[in-house]
Amino acid sequence: MNINLEHITVKSINEKIELVKQLKIQKKAVILAHHYQSMAIKEVADIIGDSLELSRKATQVASDLIIFCGVHFMAESAKLLSPKKRVYLPNLNAGCPMADMATREWVLEKKKEHPSAAVVSYVNTSAEVKAVSDICCTSSNAVKIVREISSNEIIFVPDQNLGSYVQKLVPSKTIHLWRGFCPTHHRIGAEAVMSMKAKYPEAKILIHPECKPEVVELADVVGSTAQIIKACEESDQTEFVIGTELGVVESLKKQFPSKRFYLLDEAMVCPNMKKTTLDDVINTLVNQTGEIIIEDEIQSSASQAIWAMLERS
Ligand code: SF4
Repeated sequence: MNINLEHITVKSINEKIELVKQLKIQKKAVILAHHYQSMAIKEVADIIGDSLELSRKATQVASDLIIFCGVHFMAESAKLLSPKKRVYLPNLNAGCPMADMATREWVLEKKKEHPSAAVVSYVNTSAEVKAVSDICCTSSNAVKIVREISSNEIIFVPDQNLGSYVQKLVPSKTIHLWRGFCPTHHRIGAEAVMSMKAKYPEAKILIHPECKPEVVELADVVGSTAQIIKACEESDQTEFVIGTELGVVESLKKQFPSKRFYLLDEAMVCPNMKKTTLDDVINTLVNQTGEIIIEDEIQSSASQAIWAMLERS
């Protein structure tokens, strides 16, 4: 007898989705999900966004219970901004390799080398790093933050590619780069863009600034997740090559079914962003596992760096 495993799996996923929806009502929880999460997780989310959007929304939601489906630094940022709320990361193994490339000790060392420099930290950093930073930034607002900050010398932590992009657009300032990178974006070379241009000559090329400078150079549009989505929405064109994580392509296909979206390279999948499953979310809602706790002395200085960013965004 043949058993349709696909059917059983789909049914099972649908049941889990329904269960999460019921549980979050019962528990009065709100689920925030980054665009890079799986479609199943985005299906149960109340709010889907990129880092900047989710940071803002975390401060605005009425619920005292936030389930953050993303990676560790994101849930930590939500906790920093809403210290009285309970914030949970359903899978505590979902970290960010780029965030792990910068440490508080390294930043303190660099500050000694460049005492006049302001430290601008990408939100993709730990709370400890934020606590020794002057201000945070996201890929949406990094250029604006660096341009407007009073210091002419910047220590930019940790993404060398975003930092290089900012340096190109703000040449009047001296930017000291850390050599961190996002493996998902950094592994892509210019040949991937050339190949997609040859395959889809009519398509618009949209690239995230976490990609290498030679890749960014070939883009029609450079932007954060939210900026890429907005550019696709506003464009009259119907074909787009998307140079960021797979989840953004999935979100775009769902949001704009009449347009066609192609992932720049099939390797652009963040394994950490895919770690969170519906089972993890159910477990967190039932058993309150994965609560984010931040020490008081870190909380105060790290949250100031994020608030400084939000006030300028
Ligand atoms: S996509 Fe890159 S920056 Fe984002 S969580 Fe994954 S490793 Fe970190």
